Amino acid sequence: MKEALLISACLLGAACRYDGQSRPLDAQTLEKLKERYALVPVCPEQLGGLPTPRPPAERRGGAVRTEAGTDVTEQYARGARESLRIAAFFGCKRALLKARSPSCGSGGIYNGSFTGTLVPGDGVAAEALKAAGITVYTEAELNRII
Ligand code: SF4
Repeated sequence: MKEALLISACLLGAACRYDGQSRPLDAQTLEKLKERYALVPVCPEQLGGLPTPRPPAERRGGAVRTEAGTDVTEQYARGARESLRIAAFFGCKRALLKARSPSCGSGGIYNGSFTGTLVPGDGVAAEALKAAGITVYTEAELNRII
């Protein structure tokens, strides 16, 4: 049986990003992933009840806010919980998530100033998945899972 791999839905081509776009991996990479894994797509922000498109948001301190200051921390937390529930249901031990996202980013996220400034840190869902023992990779680390 193939290993179940949790994956950010936007990396598969789902138009679930805040701007209504996707960020699909190239076709060859997707084929390789499909050959090796049973892919389990999630979009934590949609699972948290946010609309698409939606205003971009960034983490700052313990909160997640849009540039206009709307607090969306609870929706991000809910999306992380639902992503974790799906990962557990399918027995995912690893996840391939979109880099720099306030939900899916791993190792580096924007600092909450909406100036494109990266700081060390994880998105809300990536953090929850890691805390549950799931190893998280970004699309910059494909060579580690293919
Ligand atoms: Fe992609 Fe994750 Fe953002 Fe959803 S929350 S659009 S899966 S990066």
